[in-house]
Amino acid sequence: MKENFEAVIGLEVHAQLRTNTKAFCSCTIKFGNEPNTNVCPVCLGMPGTLPVLNKNLVEFILKMGIATDCTIRKRSIFARKNYFYPDLPKGYQISQYEEPICEFGFVEIESDEGVKKKIGLTRIHMEEDAGKLIHDVGVDTFVDVNRCGTPLIEIVSEPDIRSAKDASRYLQKVRQLVTYLEICDGNMEEGSLRCDANVSIRKKGETTLGTKAEIKNMNSFRNVERAIEYEISRQIAIVESGGNVVQETLLWDADKQISYSMRSKEEAHDYRYFPDPDLVPVIVDEKWIAKVKTNLSEHPTRRRERFISEYHLPKYDADVLTQEKSYADYFENALPGLSPQGVLRTNKTKENFKSISNWIMTDVLRVVSERNISILNFPIAPINIGKLVSLIDNGTISSKLAKDVFEEMLNNNEEPKSIVERKGLVQVSDANEIEIVIKQILARSENKPHIEKYLSGVEKVLGFFVGEIMREMKGKGNPKVVNEILKKYLEEMKK
Ligand code: ADP
Ligand code: MG
Ligand code: ZN
Repeated sequence: MKENFEAVIGLEVHAQLRTNTKAFCSCTIKFGNEPNTNVCPVCLGMPGTLPVLNKNLVEFILKMGIATDCTIRKRSIFARKNYFYPDLPKGYQISQYEEPICEFGFVEIESDEGVKKKIGLTRIHMEEDAGKLIHDVGVDTFVDVNRCGTPLIEIVSEPDIRSAKDASRYLQKVRQLVTYLEICDGNMEEGSLRCDANVSIRKKGETTLGTKAEIKNMNSFRNVERAIEYEISRQIAIVESGGNVVQETLLWDADKQISYSMRSKEEAHDYRYFPDPDLVPVIVDEKWIAKVKTNLSEHPTRRRERFISEYHLPKYDADVLTQEKSYADYFENALPGLSPQGVLRTNKTKENFKSISNWIMTDVLRVVSERNISILNFPIAPINIGKLVSLIDNGTISSKLAKDVFEEMLNNNEEPKSIVERKGLVQVSDANEIEIVIKQILARSENKPHIEKYLSGVEKVLGFFVGEIMREMKGKGNPKVVNEILKKYLEEMKK
């Protein structure tokens, strides 16, 4: 029975750092250049060349280490991980083995019900990437070594994760962190963020770890979740039929939704790790750590809490808006558009905060996804969303007209006020003007039956009349005023 088992999961996440140059030479890490052009004798591992550590690599990993509460090792060293593969001309990868720079941190995840759980981090270390093999359908395999020497950090979790869903939550948190810290672009499809999952099962109540299998090649949160789910079921089936799980490395096939064995698991001693004699130890002092700490961008979890406490946003809104740093920035950059004096801490402002949040969550993000663009390239400047909300707030336009203004703003980021003036969209709130229209509509003979209906108690006819009035007013009537006056007139007819 599935219920008798518990899953034990640990993730190894590789994040490609957004430095300008490679880890140990000055070649660019730019993606998409001609194959084998971003190279030099150092990253090709020519004999006699010497690697020189990119200081930004240390700076970036310190950010991540501090943001995850790791202990920072003041003196850490690099090691050579030796293996042969055609995408690795040097024959070894520079990595950290003993004495990694960051250890014993944690990442906090939260369930849908709000239950928080800390996932321990065993270590975060620095290393370099290998090149890429390009398999031409059934013919040749090409080698592109542009990626050789690209700086990576590897974030290794403790086996603290207990479900596929939590593994995906953890990975999302890690992605959120590295993107907030602006040390990695977090693009999983392009491989800037890669994840290997280690999975084992055990009978509930047991404390020793079972034999694990490692799954590679999952390039989306959904795939991570599915692959782990699949692996848990596979292992339970093996154990239930009396077999033993073997330690191996599996590849996930996202199309077929199955995994298959790639190789039996290698052991650390197969790699013949040894301290790299070409690189000096990395020394980090308190002053450096303090400097990184002061310049650290706001932690996403704290930003989310602040969105709730400072802007009174519902938890759901805060989650959506702080999921991506760029969304959160867009929201906060919209606030100065609220008139007259920008952001006021009043109840009225609270409604406007929520309104801005709604515009971003529905209209802005809808267009972002339709056009498949980044919110950073969104055609409407955030401040203009704030201004649009102001126009609704002060009664210049209705929310309905605001939708049209928004569509218009998409064209060339024109100020909402200028669109309203240019198109004559100003909302009519004047009672006299509205009364005239209401009288006209109620006097129409074809509307008699509807009036009868209302008088006999069918309240929903009100909506029909509002529609008629709005049509007559070309959508410019203030819905609140229209409703009030209309009701007054109809009620009077009852007498
Ligand atoms: P390896 O030497 O095979 O790479 P490590 O001890 O370095 O194994 O652990 C790699 C990852 O696997 C870590 O994230 C760790 O938490 C996880 N892990 C280790 N043992 C188990 C296990 N029995 N079940 C699930 N995950 C495990
Ligand atoms: Mg390992
Ligand atoms: Zn180079």
